[in-house]
Amino acid sequence: MNVLVINAGSSSLKYQLINVESQTVLAKGLCDRVGYEDSMHKHGLAGNEYCDSVPMLDHDAAVSVVLEALLSGPTAAADSLDEIDAVGHRIVQGGKYFDRSVVIDEDVIEKIDEMAELAPLHNKAAIQGIRACQHHMPDTPMVAVFDTSFYQSLPAKAFMYPIPYEYYEKYAIRKYGAHGTSHRYIAERAADLLEEDLQDLKLITCHLGNGCSITAVDHGYAVDTSMGLTPLDGLMMGTRCGTIDPAIVTYLMDHENLSPSEMDDILNKKSGLYGISGISNDLRFVDECSERGDERALLAIEMYANSAKKFIGQYIAVMGGVDCIVLTGGVGENSVKMRRMIFAGMQTMGIKLDYERNRTGPREREISADDSDVLIVIIPTDEELMIARDTYELVHDLIDDPYIDYNPEMLLF
Ligand code: ADP
Repeated sequence: MNVLVINAGSSSLKYQLINVESQTVLAKGLCDRVGYEDSMHKHGLAGNEYCDSVPMLDHDAAVSVVLEALLSGPTAAADSLDEIDAVGHRIVQGGKYFDRSVVIDEDVIEKIDEMAELAPLHNKAAIQGIRACQHHMPDTPMVAVFDTSFYQSLPAKAFMYPIPYEYYEKYAIRKYGAHGTSHRYIAERAADLLEEDLQDLKLITCHLGNGCSITAVDHGYAVDTSMGLTPLDGLMMGTRCGTIDPAIVTYLMDHENLSPSEMDDILNKKSGLYGISGISNDLRFVDECSERGDERALLAIEMYANSAKKFIGQYIAVMGGVDCIVLTGGVGENSVKMRRMIFAGMQTMGIKLDYERNRTGPREREISADDSDVLIVIIPTDEELMIARDTYELVHDLIDDPYIDYNPEMLLF
């Protein structure tokens, strides 16, 4: 079964066509600057890619460009629309409504729209992506996969904030988490790799990139996570501050005469590695500067490591131990030095990196020492494959059975 995975942003649309049984990416690409005059389309697999300037005034036009690239010309990956069996859409915010992926119908779209209050740009864009696909593929079943659904298992003591309860009732202010599809994928993949049942493991999954989040996965269920009401909370990131004393916000707004949106900009775009180093949000670049003696660059990478270390410690306490720590994301997968800094001094907790395994090896590998009580593994994340698998799980019965006609109204589960 072939699933078209769509990740629609406010001015972009990323896609992959995946054969689920063989876990093969048949084609992928990106429509960039959708809605602008200089929109670009990049399509193809590594070594066989092209990039064109193509006018795409909206997501509908982008989906039309995507389908043309998938179905015709030298890079065609399918002969006709019939070979695209289903579409899986990435949705950032599912709020309280979705604790799992669901087949899309009008009710689902309404709820995604309602939850747009918590992720305005992302959810509205996702709906545009869904509508565009419905327009061009009216008979193809579609599934919504939510970044937040993995965290609906959090207990109230983890998802509530200690502010007046009425704000939870009035505005649904609580922890929703983010990066859930990535954490779910690496948790499942880690269990496979260790040849254990996910239900038997205590895992700490760390997505460390420009955006960063850490999740405690206790016997298959997320029990706590670092991102909060929004993806601003938790770890120090490339440009986001993560957890800070909330009084800093009111203090700065007062003293610098800042509006809410100016403050938001500082916390989301001018903080983190960038804010401390004053150089870049890119760890590689900040690290190069620290190696050359730049003190603020060094401070920035020390703070980034310390922030990850503290969340790992918290979650060991929350779960009463950990069997395996899983790392992913640009930094988690690639930075030998950052991994050393994060795990330095954790030997007394039974967590010990192997120097050589940390330094080099296949992309997916164990990097803990033989005498470490806790396993540490690197697993490159694959959110698209997770979305394709969820889509397959929800729709394959309908597609495989030629006697059932697909009818979205039948699928209200
Ligand atoms: P995003 O959260 O935007 O998806 P990524 O997961 O791509 O980000 O991670 C980007 C971060 O990964 C950047 O800070 C970059 O410097 C870092 N990174 C990528 N490759 C390396 C590397 N080889 N060594 C150290 N850091 C790396």
